[in-house]
Amino acid sequence: MYRNQNVVLRCNRCTMHKSESLEVSLSARWTCNICGLAQPMLRIYHYGTVAECHSYVSILNSRIRNTMRG
Ligand SMILES: [Zn+2]
Repeated sequence: MYRNQNVVLRCNRCTMHKSESLEVSLSARWTCNICGLAQPMLRIYHYGTVAECHSYVSILNSRIRNTMRG
């Protein structure tokens, strides 16, 4: 029923965001694809379609990268 829904999660270690399918997120720990940390889903930053979540992640992550550079 939630097959087409994605969530946006944030890594506890590197603070980067990741789009993950809701089914995966609810059933188990998710793994950050940037630093590789496996962690429970503590907070959902955004909830929506796959395309929506992907654009959300790229906006949030580019904002973080800009902050780091400064
Ligand atoms: Zn990470």
